[in-house]
Amino acid sequence: MSESETSIIKFLLFVGGLIFFMIFELATPYRPPTVSKAKRWIINLSVTGFNNIVIGLIFAALIAETLDYVAKYRVGVLNLLDIPYSLKILATVIFMDFMLYVWHLLNHEMPFLWRFHRVHHCDLNMDVSTATRFHAGELIFSSVIRISLVFFIGADFTGILIFEIAVVAATQFHHSSLKLPRRLESLLWILFVPPSMHRIHHSVKIKERDTNYGVLFSFWDRILGTLLIQTDQDHIRIGVGAYPKQEKLNFHHLIVMPFTKPVK
Ligand SMILES: [Zn+2]
Repeated sequence: MSESETSIIKFLLFVGGLIFFMIFELATPYRPPTVSKAKRWIINLSVTGFNNIVIGLIFAALIAETLDYVAKYRVGVLNLLDIPYSLKILATVIFMDFMLYVWHLLNHEMPFLWRFHRVHHCDLNMDVSTATRFHAGELIFSSVIRISLVFFIGADFTGILIFEIAVVAATQFHHSSLKLPRRLESLLWILFVPPSMHRIHHSVKIKERDTNYGVLFSFWDRILGTLLIQTDQDHIRIGVGAYPKQEKLNFHHLIVMPFTKPVK
């Protein structure tokens, strides 16, 4: 599969996921919006469009080059091991997800990284469009790290493609404002990240926000003591305490936010 074909597939899955979850959100919303959904969608999709022009094109090509190099010269840990191909794919997905967990935790713990990550967290309502709202700076840092990790683990094309598609689907799902049956949510908590788990992570309360960092799997939070289950879900206020007003959260505010005064 060529680089442009995979880009088209990823783009179609991304748009398909947005539409799919948006329809469900409109049909069975978890709670009514407190600010205009249309306005937030315009802002969040503008951030995504800007990111895709700035970063998407550059880093998609760089990651493809890296994967070619790794395959050609057989570098990285997985290329040293004599294990079945399916196990290599599984190891790639699990390892990359753990690194994403660590990266996410660092985005909360390191003040410099939080300057960028707060752009994602200051959304006043949470829905599938929040999943696309990341500052270009954060995406540049994470893309550089992803390229280094591909070298380190010796990941191949299929492993990274599966991981990237799974991350987009999981991120869209757990940001969605969906009212899921309680039994389904409890089942998902065992291994994965349902919306109720990630909703706690978007709370204005810092104690709640600095938990539940998982993206694909919830067991990293469980093992490393950052899991929070017991919260009054109906009263979680979404956002960052220092940014309570939508008027101060327009596109241009978000773009310059990392370079303005630090907030908790
Ligand atoms: Zn976060």
